[in-house]
Amino acid sequence: MVTTPDSTVAVRAKYEPVIGLEVHVQLLTASKIFCSCSTRFGNPPNTNVCPVCLGMPGSLPVLNKKAVEFAVLAGMALNCRINETSIFARKNYFYPDLPKGYQISQYDKPLAEHGFIEIKIGGAKKKIGITRVHMEEDAGKSLHESFAVAAEKTAIDLNRTGVPLIEIVSEPDISSPEEAHEYLTLLKEIILYTGVSDCNMEEGSLRCDANISVRPRGQKEFGTKTEIKNVNSFRFIREALEYEIGRQIDVIESGGKITQETRLYNSHEGKTYGMRSKEQAHDYRYFPEPDLLPLVVDEAWKTKIAKQLPELPEARRARLVKEYGITEYDAGVLTFTKDLADQFEAAAKAAKNPKRVANLVQGELMGRLKAKNLEIGQSPISMQGVAASADLVESGAISGKMLKELYDLSFERGKDFPAVYEEEGRPVQSSDTSALEKIIDELIAANPKQVEQYRAGKKTMIGFFVGQVMKASKGQANPQVVNELLGKKLGL
Ligand SMILES: [Zn+2]
Repeated sequence: MVTTPDSTVAVRAKYEPVIGLEVHVQLLTASKIFCSCSTRFGNPPNTNVCPVCLGMPGSLPVLNKKAVEFAVLAGMALNCRINETSIFARKNYFYPDLPKGYQISQYDKPLAEHGFIEIKIGGAKKKIGITRVHMEEDAGKSLHESFAVAAEKTAIDLNRTGVPLIEIVSEPDISSPEEAHEYLTLLKEIILYTGVSDCNMEEGSLRCDANISVRPRGQKEFGTKTEIKNVNSFRFIREALEYEIGRQIDVIESGGKITQETRLYNSHEGKTYGMRSKEQAHDYRYFPEPDLLPLVVDEAWKTKIAKQLPELPEARRARLVKEYGITEYDAGVLTFTKDLADQFEAAAKAAKNPKRVANLVQGELMGRLKAKNLEIGQSPISMQGVAASADLVESGAISGKMLKELYDLSFERGKDFPAVYEEEGRPVQSSDTSALEKIIDELIAANPKQVEQYRAGKKTMIGFFVGQVMKASKGQANPQVVNELLGKKLGL
């Protein structure tokens, strides 16, 4: 971490960053967008290919319906308007991993437009506009390692060619690296909820490019932007943006000019480097793809797809807070993935008292996870385990104190609650009244002053007696039974 002198901080505060993000997301279809080849990751190179995705002359693309449905679903989840008619276009450029010499994409008539998502920043909400969501095919991959003659040659793997993608383009509404990070995190969460992609960054299912410029605060016109390409983690994107903002301000402050160019981020050095200037950038000569009809998504189809749209994370968080009385923070943790939220809700609903499940997650589980530095997905106690323990407390079979001890054992042994409960011989708290009565009789004899106070009307003194009984029974007594017996013995 580089410390920035105060003078630099003051100079930088004069400028406002303007950031727009382009995110490519691979759709989770079994086959490619224009042919029936498999999209499976990790197959031997050039085994998932056919004349269509190899770009053989005379082969014709056939649009994958599932890919369209997934793209529409993503567009809807991002609050976009779905255009009834959108057009596929050829984006022409030459690159070794692009056998056709063009990529089929969408250009001036994309599938979805005018959306937004709402990020939370410093406790406040901020809307980030989504300009468009369009469909396109992926290109292949140049390999520079892991094959025999890698030192002299580059190999091409075309398995990825024709894999369906959506590109999600944001408005330049993002004004800090932190906001960019929030935007990407929420975007990924929403896409994961819809189930249209696994958003696996290591396998290239989610990739992000960032456009960034700075301008003096209050100025309307945008500064000259640079593009940071191929950054493979959200943290690196934040770092790359931080570096690039500082670099651009330094250039401007020292009287220089920003060159419009594509830059690469080196995560080891924490710096961006110019890759190619935009003056030499391609003119893609877009034109409508003659081999494909305009894509029509009519009202009936749209309605059908809309029915598959799940409750999205923000809405779900708000509902969990309301329905189960948990904190917003915990709702955030529990909705981190749709799967976890589903597990929690299924467990809560199956339990005798759903709120107790929520309370145990919040009161007993989260703290232990935090102490052990575990994510909730790594918890030894599953949501079903929490529900089972909640029912045992609910029925009076175990006390709160026993539950805590059993949870501690679960974390020590790395085993789920029901297993530990079995191992411990299914302990139950004592409701044996004769043993408890004996304890209470002794207590009353030993504490005449407190008994007198209680009988004189100081009813809060009951707490003292309950505490003493619980202590004497080593926390095994059923508090309800203790209360009843004390009431009887002390005289109400
Ligand atoms: Zn193919």
